[in-house]
Formats: sequence, structure tokens, C-alpha cells
Amino acid sequence: MVRGHIVLPLRLQANPKLCHAFMSIPAVFISIAILSCVMSVAVLGSLFQAQVPGVRLWCVASGLLVITSALLLSGTSDIVVVTASSLLVIASLLGLRGFRQFLNQRASVAWEYVAVGGILFMLVYWTFVSPHVDARSTMISGFIAYVRFHIGWSVLKYRPPGRPKYAYYFVSIAAALGAVVHAVRAISYGLGFAHETVFLEPTPLNVMFLGMAALTLPCLSVGMVLVAHDRLSDRMERLATFDDLTGVLARRAFIARAEAIAHAAAARKAVFSIAILDIDKFKRINDRYGHAAGDLALARVASLISHAVREDDVVGRIGGEEFALLLPSATKEEAGRLVDRLRAIVAASGSCVPGADVVPTLSAGVDAYCEGDTLASVMARADAALYAAKANGRNCVMVAPAVDARQWKRLPTGSSELASGNITSR
Ligand code: GH3
Ligand code: MG
Ligand code: MG
Repeated sequence: MVRGHIVLPLRLQANPKLCHAFMSIPAVFISIAILSCVMSVAVLGSLFQAQVPGVRLWCVASGLLVITSALLLSGTSDIVVVTASSLLVIASLLGLRGFRQFLNQRASVAWEYVAVGGILFMLVYWTFVSPHVDARSTMISGFIAYVRFHIGWSVLKYRPPGRPKYAYYFVSIAAALGAVVHAVRAISYGLGFAHETVFLEPTPLNVMFLGMAALTLPCLSVGMVLVAHDRLSDRMERLATFDDLTGVLARRAFIARAEAIAHAAAARKAVFSIAILDIDKFKRINDRYGHAAGDLALARVASLISHAVREDDVVGRIGGEEFALLLPSATKEEAGRLVDRLRAIVAASGSCVPGADVVPTLSAGVDAYCEGDTLASVMARADAALYAAKANGRNCVMVAPAVDARQWKRLPTGSSELASGNITSR
């Protein structure tokens, strides 16, 4: 009969003290594994509602590991060992699938299912038909080593760019350590460096493997929770950073980024310009075609602006139908020309309401940062220029006059060049 892990070699059975110590070590490690998996189920379960990809699979995998460990604690019969081993293999694969979902990678690899089928078959064969404990240990540890290695590698390779690295490195290291432990175990039994006649026989080598496995498993569970929380933080940051209707920066994020650029520009004595753009008579679109059509028009105009600006330019939605544009290194004349080009693109873009003839137009005011300015003062002057653009009949761009200038000048419609005055084309 093949007995469970708490069966001791005859040599140890003669010494009850030693015997007790050896009996308790695997049991303690397995109990640690049970506790850590129960905690993982509880914490991962609390993230269900957030719908982080992979969390459900990790939770199921952790639940299966609780059952596996509980079976191993109590189990001595062949059927218990086969069941526990099968659950361990399935839980490992589910854990890997969870990571693939989390990292937005292909959810399943067919050969892995074939491999699991083969492993389950060979488990039964090497337990009931031709008992071979070493072969079973080699096979199972080999598979778990593959899974853990794959997790560690995938998390490193596909971790989301721009996120803090800590959680991802933590998972990778925990998974790699687990992979090494299982690979060494598989090699030891596979190449005959070690030998066991009963499953999880409490030899020093097995106790060490069990201890390392029991250590790396909670680390991996903690890692799952860390990366899931990082995903939630990422979502919250995105919500706070981007306007969800138009996809451009929300007001607060625009101001924060603009302040940073303003500080850097002040330190380097560099120039930058700000434009405030407002959709003309937007209320009419809402009133005539409904709020949903207004939303479509807003998103359309924002998309036209975002696609037309330069890579370094910063676009934000600072009010209902009002956008701000920061143009690094641009003088107000250059900014005026660029914004006038945007105005022309929007005016030539065709209807922004499906099934109706509603062509949006923009008015804009532009000014540049001068020494001693604050971001708020540049924005206020650009805003005043926007008012002037509205007062001058809309669908035009005004560049704020120099501080000592008294007169606004107006250029002929369609001109994209600035004259010696401060008012651009209309
Ligand atoms: P002007 O040319 O002077 O700028 O006229 P206007 O109609 O564009 O300006 P006004 O300030 O009178 O109206 C702005 C409208 O924008 C009123 C408001 O209902 C609408 N609005 C603000 N935010 C949203 C939004 O998120 N979606 C939609 N559909 N409408 C919005
Ligand atoms: Mg408006
Ligand atoms: Mg407005």
C-alpha cells in the first residue's frame, strides 16, 4: 500500500521525539499553505466586483489549493494522493491562465490542456497500475516548475508600461523561486539523485522542498493581490486624469501638467503658449439635436484637435465645450498659426451630428508665457483673447496683444499669417 507523507522511515520511528518533530514539519508547512490560500481566497474575493481580469481564476485556483492542502494533511490513501495531486496540477494551470487574462494575453494554450490530460492519466497509472512515486513527483514538480517559470516570465515581459515596477517584480521573483524549487525537485527525482517510496515521505530533502514551496506560495498569492491593486490604482488614476467623454486630459490633470511645464520653462527661460478654444454656439446643437448629439460633437471636435496637434502639445478639456492647449516652445505667433490651422480643420470637418448638417466651428484665444508670469495669468489673458474672438464674430483665433499694446487689430478672413498686430485671421 502506498501511504501518505506522515509515514516515517523505520529508523526514525524508533525515536519518538525525533519522530514527532519530523511528523509535524510537513504538517506545519501544509497548514501554512492552507492558511495563506484561505487568505488569498478572502482577499481576491473582495476584488471580484472590481472585475480585474484574472482575479476569478486566481481565486478558484487558491480555493483548489486549500482543498489540495487539506487533503494532503489528512490523506494517506492512494485515492486521496491522486485527487490532491490532480487538483494541484489543475490549480496551477488556472493560476497561469489567470495571469494570462490579467496581462491580456492569449487565454489558453491547447497543448497545456493535452499535457494536463496526460499528467492525470499518468498519475492514475503510476499510482494504481504500476506504482512509481519518483516518476509522479518528477512529473508534477516538472509541470509546476513550467507554470511558475511561465508566470514569472510573462509578468516581466507583459507588465503594463508606466506602472510602478514593485508589484510585478515581486510576482516574478516569487514565481521564479517556486519554479527553481520545483525544477530542482523534478531533476532530483527524475535523474535518481533522490528517491522516495511513499508520497511526500518526510526525508530532509522533501521537508526542504515542502518548506520552500510553502514559502513561495504565499508570496505568489500576495503578488496576485499587489498586481490586482495596481490595476485598480491605474484605473483610478486614469479616471482622474482623462476626461471620459473626449479622452483628452481632464481639467485638473491639464493644470497639473501645465504647471510642471511652466516651472520647467521658467527655470530654463524658455517660452510656451496657451490657447483656450471654445466651440461656437454649442448650446444650439444640444437644443436642436439633443444632449447625446452634443456629446458626439464634443468627442468629434476633441478628436480632431488631438490628432492635429504636435506630439509634445498638451490638450485638456477645461470646461463643458472648452478646451485648453499648451504648446511648448511656441511663441504666441507660432501658436496663433497652429491654432488657426486647428480652427480651419474643424470648420472643414463636415457635419458632427449624424443625419444632420451641423458643422462645428471654434473660437480661440492665444497668449504666451512671459518672464514673471504664472500659468493662471497666461490662461487668463488667453481667455480674454477668446472673449475678443467671440465678440469678433466667432470661428476665429485671437492672439492677445503685447502687454504695452493698446489696440487689437483684425486680419482678413482666411489668413493664416499674423500681421504686425496681435489678432489672427478669422
Ligand atoms: P458661444 O459661442 O458663446 O460659446 O455659445 P455656446 O452656446 O457654445 O455657449 P454656452 O455657454 O451658452 O453653452 C454651452 C453649452 O455647452 C451649454 C451646456 O449645456 C453645453 N455642455 C456643456 N458640457 C456638455 C457636455 O458634456 N455634453 C453636452 N452635450 N453639452 C454640454
Ligand atoms: Mg461655446
Ligand atoms: Mg464655453
